[in-house]
Amino acid sequence: LYGVARSAKALRAYTRGYILMMKLTLAYLYPREMNTYGDRGNVICLQKRLEWRGYKLDIVEHQPGDKLPVQVDMVFMGGGQDSGQAVIDTDFKRVAPWLRELAEANVPMLTICGAYQLFGHSFEMLDGSELQGIGILDVTTRAQTARLIGNLHIETEDFGTIIGFENHSGRTYLGPRAEPLGRVTMGAGNNGEDKTEGTRYRNIIGTYSHGPVLPKNPRLADWLIGRMPGIMSTKLEPLDDPYIDAARASAGARPR
Ligand code: GLN
Repeated sequence: LYGVARSAKALRAYTRGYILMMKLTLAYLYPREMNTYGDRGNVICLQKRLEWRGYKLDIVEHQPGDKLPVQVDMVFMGGGQDSGQAVIDTDFKRVAPWLRELAEANVPMLTICGAYQLFGHSFEMLDGSELQGIGILDVTTRAQTARLIGNLHIETEDFGTIIGFENHSGRTYLGPRAEPLGRVTMGAGNNGEDKTEGTRYRNIIGTYSHGPVLPKNPRLADWLIGRMPGIMSTKLEPLDDPYIDAARASAGARPR
């Protein structure tokens, strides 16, 4: 009897904790095809930073053909090889109107490398064939044979120095409406020519930064979190974490 009473109490406490935790939803697009160089770590980072502040983040993994989630607080899509980008192409066009609607409703999105390219107007691949993007971001990409590979530092106004890693054949050029995410101080960034890296539009970030980028760049992570529709207050409690400082110092000191 004592055992039953004890487990009932534990169950009640657990349920209460669960109900009190506010729930948010993140749509993770194409985790099979679009997930390179630790990109999934971004989702884990968001989940943990939310959990430490009393929120539960549900991650809805979207695969080609899946029904779209009704309500989302954020969208994430990582990088992938050209072949992976081609595999998701048809489904990506299907979900494009939904993404456009969310974008205009200021839902935050993080798009990395191959995803960043496809959120733009087009990606011309090495064999000359072209993947049409969904044009939410005003950027255009063309592949070149030499890949741009190595550690990447980006100077930004809102997030300080972003430390990441890049590996892409695509050269991305900003259109007239596009604002860069930042200025490259180490690495190639968008195209290796104009020193720009990534782009921003409303609450959407496009970047070549893998790594994953968010655990090492908590200001960017918290900026995205602060813009989620289900967040009660944009004033987030600061989270001290000596591991983040150590990871930034160690990754930031690596040569190109
Ligand atoms: N296929 C793209 C390129 O090489 C994207 C690469 C990536 O996402 N890492 O440009």
